[in-house]
Amino acid sequence: MKFVALTIFPEMFNSFWAYGIIGKAIAEKHIFASTINIRDFAEGRHKTTDDRPFGGGCGMVMKPEPLAKAIQAAKEIAPVSKTVLLSPQGRVFDQKTAGDFAESEGLILVCGRYEGIDERISNSFIDEEISIGDYVLTGGEIGAMVVIEAVTRLIPGVLGSADSALQDSFSGSLLDFGHYTRPRDFEGSKVPDVLLSGNHKDIENWRLEASLIRTFLKRPDLLESRTFSKQEIEILKKWCRDIEKIIQTQSLRGPGTLSGN
Ligand code: SAM
Repeated sequence: MKFVALTIFPEMFNSFWAYGIIGKAIAEKHIFASTINIRDFAEGRHKTTDDRPFGGGCGMVMKPEPLAKAIQAAKEIAPVSKTVLLSPQGRVFDQKTAGDFAESEGLILVCGRYEGIDERISNSFIDEEISIGDYVLTGGEIGAMVVIEAVTRLIPGVLGSADSALQDSFSGSLLDFGHYTRPRDFEGSKVPDVLLSGNHKDIENWRLEASLIRTFLKRPDLLESRTFSKQEIEILKKWCRDIEKIIQTQSLRGPGTLSGN
């Protein structure tokens, strides 16, 4: 898969391309990644990429001509690709979109600056606008890196184990379970016994229940759209029975005296 990031600050990507999963994915040729400096396509002695907005007002706007030429150059590098503008006004990026992008052949990521890019580029050269969240950054570069990283780890062969990405939070609408490593006892806090048991079936069951509990506590909204497996329904029913038992024991005891009772 090819990623081409269009930016006026290509140096921001130097470390990003060099380290971790992205560096490895490039070295192993799972992805091809490059940056295009929009300024290289600007005219004049100062290679200006921005100008004052028509109609007045504060801030500057990214000029259309250098952007159009830069997108054209990116298409020569990655001819079969979607052109995505990073924008706070776009569709909010999520794991599902990352998965869809990972199946495509390429992404051209346009990083805005200032007040944004000239509207005519958005209208005629951009296939999709993507936001990384409901807040405003000063530029699209960090957003482009977010997209590239989330997409890259879903490309087959990039992660060490094929299952790693599948088990991650959001992959199947459940959050990932808690992870533990050595030592077994850290300042009195112990690794759950089941994880040391060597019984793979029990470990798998424990992890599924741990994922369900986390999702229920942290992101119950994710459970609303989930189609539960038979095993998951059994786990949920067991919780209901356990909670019912606690309530019954409490009501036999009568109301407590602690505040809030
Ligand atoms: N005036 C624009 C608005 O209110 O919609 C905001 C422009 S912002 C200061 C400059 C650039 O940062 C944008 O063109 C975009 O590329 C990037 N950007 C800012 N927030 C973003 C977000 N939440 N997601 C993706 N890109 C963002």
